[in-house]
Amino acid sequence: MQNAGLYIHIPFCEKRCNYCDFFSSTNKDLLDRYVDEVSSEIKRVSERFPAKIETIYLGGGTPSLLSLGHLDKIFSAIHSSFTVESKETTIEVNPNSSEKLSEYPKFGIDRVSIGIQTLDPVLLKKIGRLHTPEEGIDALVRAGDSFDNVSADLIIGLDKNQDVESDVNAIAPYCTHVSGYMLSVPKKSQIAKMIKEKEFFPASDDQTVDQYDVLTDTCRMLGFYRYETSNFAKLGKEGIHNGNYWAMHPYIGIGPSAHSYFGGIRYYNENDMKKYLSGCHSGNEKEKIERKYSVEDEITETIMLSLRTAKGIDIKAFNKKFDADFLHKYEKGIDAVRKYVSVTKNRLYILPKYFSVQNQVILSILTH
Ligand code: SF4
Repeated sequence: MQNAGLYIHIPFCEKRCNYCDFFSSTNKDLLDRYVDEVSSEIKRVSERFPAKIETIYLGGGTPSLLSLGHLDKIFSAIHSSFTVESKETTIEVNPNSSEKLSEYPKFGIDRVSIGIQTLDPVLLKKIGRLHTPEEGIDALVRAGDSFDNVSADLIIGLDKNQDVESDVNAIAPYCTHVSGYMLSVPKKSQIAKMIKEKEFFPASDDQTVDQYDVLTDTCRMLGFYRYETSNFAKLGKEGIHNGNYWAMHPYIGIGPSAHSYFGGIRYYNENDMKKYLSGCHSGNEKEKIERKYSVEDEITETIMLSLRTAKGIDIKAFNKKFDADFLHKYEKGIDAVRKYVSVTKNRLYILPKYFSVQNQVILSILTH
């Protein structure tokens, strides 16, 4: 039996954040039906992909909108369908729906990830978050009462004067892990409109890179080491579930728009709530749709994901998996970026000071 991660997508939110283009609904009246479908998809998928589940991740959307009854249904379905030996079970929590934090451990949840984003009250409002900075800190403090493993999400690049250092200083005492993402502006998002109408002024690319350096330095000084481009952890508190994605381990995704990677093949569920609620992934229609992946795609993905991590590429493992000679195959590309990387016969990684240009480094290695 193969080991795998299990991702449960909860695409429901109280209100759309202005920067968001994720698949998500604000119609919470659908939640009961949704949870029933999730439970039956879990059962059905377990027949197709019998796996030992090592990590569980409830992401969204806003999984903290689920009631305790919903969680009970979902976890009962997981445990009655799969063999579960969980090393990490995470739920994403929004500060404005964090009242159930202390109840989560009874479902086996041992890690929470809280969407703080920023502690600047003006920026929080501008990006459409419903909580105040104080409510964000309060959620982190209460999470610490029930969990040893608390992660906080931040977004940088929101404004040229964003005080990333003071945000990290303020959250650090209450968490063991920080994820810091650069603002992206999806074309159809509210924030794209606000920028066009001169109501919102994000930081420039250079300013955002400077803020990333502040984020990295402040995290390092406070004992959070960068183990992946956007992720910083106290030693031993690295996210296992996401770590397995970057290491190309198998995972099973449940819910509309969820992706799976199992038996070397990638699958995905359609982005269609109506179809999902009519049972299309739990037996009435087509299940997951297969994405055909070639070995070359697999190789490219392995390089891209590995080079996001501080450990980089394990060359021996790469050569064994793909029956290849990595250093020979990418010799020209590696030569072109030699000053940005450390390379030995066993490992290649991007030097920490060049993490902010990692996309260019990866592209060079792949395309030379
Ligand atoms: S909570 Fe997350 S998924 Fe929901 S609207 Fe905001 S950013 Fe999007």
